[in-house]
Amino acid sequence: MDDISYILNQLGEERENYFNAVSAPLIQTSNFAFKTVEDYQQAMQSEKDNSLYTRGINPTVKILCRKLAALEETEDCLVFASGMAAISAAVISQVKSGDHIICIENAYGWTNALLADFLNRFGVEFTFVDGKKTENFRNAIKSNTKVIYLESPNSLLFEMQDIPAVCKLAKEHQIVTIIDNSYAGPLSNSTSQMGVDIVLHSASKYINGHSDVVAGVLCTSRKIAEQIFYHEYMTLGGIIGPLDAWLMIRSLRTLPMRMERTSNSAQRVIDYLKTHPKIKQIHYPFLPDFPQKHLVASHMPKPMAMFSIVLDSEDVTKIKAFCNSLNYFLLAPSWGGHESLIFPTCVFKSDDSRSSLPVNIVRMYIGFEEADTLIADLKQALNKL
Ligand SMILES: *Cc1c(COP(=O)(O)O)cnc(C)c1O
Repeated sequence: MDDISYILNQLGEERENYFNAVSAPLIQTSNFAFKTVEDYQQAMQSEKDNSLYTRGINPTVKILCRKLAALEETEDCLVFASGMAAISAAVISQVKSGDHIICIENAYGWTNALLADFLNRFGVEFTFVDGKKTENFRNAIKSNTKVIYLESPNSLLFEMQDIPAVCKLAKEHQIVTIIDNSYAGPLSNSTSQMGVDIVLHSASKYINGHSDVVAGVLCTSRKIAEQIFYHEYMTLGGIIGPLDAWLMIRSLRTLPMRMERTSNSAQRVIDYLKTHPKIKQIHYPFLPDFPQKHLVASHMPKPMAMFSIVLDSEDVTKIKAFCNSLNYFLLAPSWGGHESLIFPTCVFKSDDSRSSLPVNIVRMYIGFEEADTLIADLKQALNKL
């Protein structure tokens, strides 16, 4: 990867073209005008290389895309209005009626819905497999398999896949690999270099990082990006607006600091929780007893700030009392922002497949608060259990 400081502070920013302003320009426009018919005609030849209309190429969005492609070590990047818009565009781009997709079980809930409810209506078949064993992918491959969809780790129990091994297998069968890399974020080891064809992020999480933008990122080769641009990106039109792209450029400036701060605090909080008598277990890839330890170092050399605790009580009233007593952890979905959050499994709807998870799991994300403050808060709330 290029020097991260260079990517975050310089790459894609042509300051001489906009008054040498230090901050990136916010080009809040829907359309772009041409001097002559000839110029207009010229630009129309390649909508991906020219600014005509903001559903296509907008200069603010383009600065963001160049930085994200560099972070992911891919040739190109497209940014969408949400993580789900990016995931949907990526998957839809690779299949037609009669094709088959292999996906890990326990992927993000709406990704499940995309395959099982949405694409299935259009005749696309799917198989969910336990991704912890690479041979499960091998056994699920059929002659019409076009996509293997990964999420390593996933964001509740942090189950991982052996990415290089799965990519090797996929390449042998001309199957495209797609990964949702939201948990590991763009500063972990590059999954594109491990062989993944399309790398996705919910940018609503670490990349934007301030709980004020919903967006999605798709990083891939020039060839696949061009194909998706002229089809799913332009036709489904789930693009990001210039203001949200501008906010994300600003967010990227502090990405390494935010990751470091939250991860360090998470270590401190885990050190406290792991010896607490009311904590039965902690699901976290960076603990020595993590069952897939051997995959962690090569994928995520640095720890992350989200983990799940298993409480030593299955009494939902007590679990609720613990959650409701926390003063610094907000009860909210999502993660990756400035604020510490908890997400208890007892909130899942009864028809959600994840409602079969034990009720005593609470996912925790550690934000920018002082670790000591968070530990004190947990200490008083655990007394309610
Ligand atoms: C949040 C999330 C998504 C969906 O992203 P949105 O930006 O909310 O559309 C997808 N995958 C994972 C792992 C997520 O956490």
